[in-house]
Amino acid sequence: MTSKFNHAFALALVLGLGGQTFAETPSTAALGAHVHGAAQLNIAIEKNNKVEFELELPGDTAVGFERAPESDSEIVKTQKIEELFKKKFSELVQLPAASKCLWGNPKIEVLYPHKNHSEWKIQIYAVCQKDLAGQSLNLDFGKHFKTLKDLDVAVIGQSFQKKAEVPNGTGSVTLSK
Ligand SMILES: [Zn+2]
Repeated sequence: MTSKFNHAFALALVLGLGGQTFAETPSTAALGAHVHGAAQLNIAIEKNNKVEFELELPGDTAVGFERAPESDSEIVKTQKIEELFKKKFSELVQLPAASKCLWGNPKIEVLYPHKNHSEWKIQIYAVCQKDLAGQSLNLDFGKHFKTLKDLDVAVIGQSFQKKAEVPNGTGSVTLSK
């Protein structure tokens, strides 16, 4: 399990940046263990006002079950959540209007690291006309994911890193130290 974010966190550790803070930000999928109701959102602000997002949440929290969908209702539920991530990510993560951002297409994966457990992983980026550093994002996962109790957010900026907890997945995060 490698990703740009894992590399970034690993690099941060090697460089001694963040130290303790980021040592405790493992990828739940990489560990093969997860807590139902807990999700992780990684945000990386890159050069040229590009911002990348990586969301990981247990299948139980995403759709209410953790095996491959079988019944009609499970298939419909899965398609509905895929559509939400594809077409309405901008409602889940609300970027400041003043930054004039355009969203790319998300990459959605459902991983089955263990029997009876699945992990949804969504990667998406936005490109903005103005710098996002110092701006606030409004997160509204709680509206669609009623069993989400704890959203852990990690932000890597060009010159800072931070972590934030967003209870129930709804709240705001400022992209600064
Ligand atoms: Zn599970």
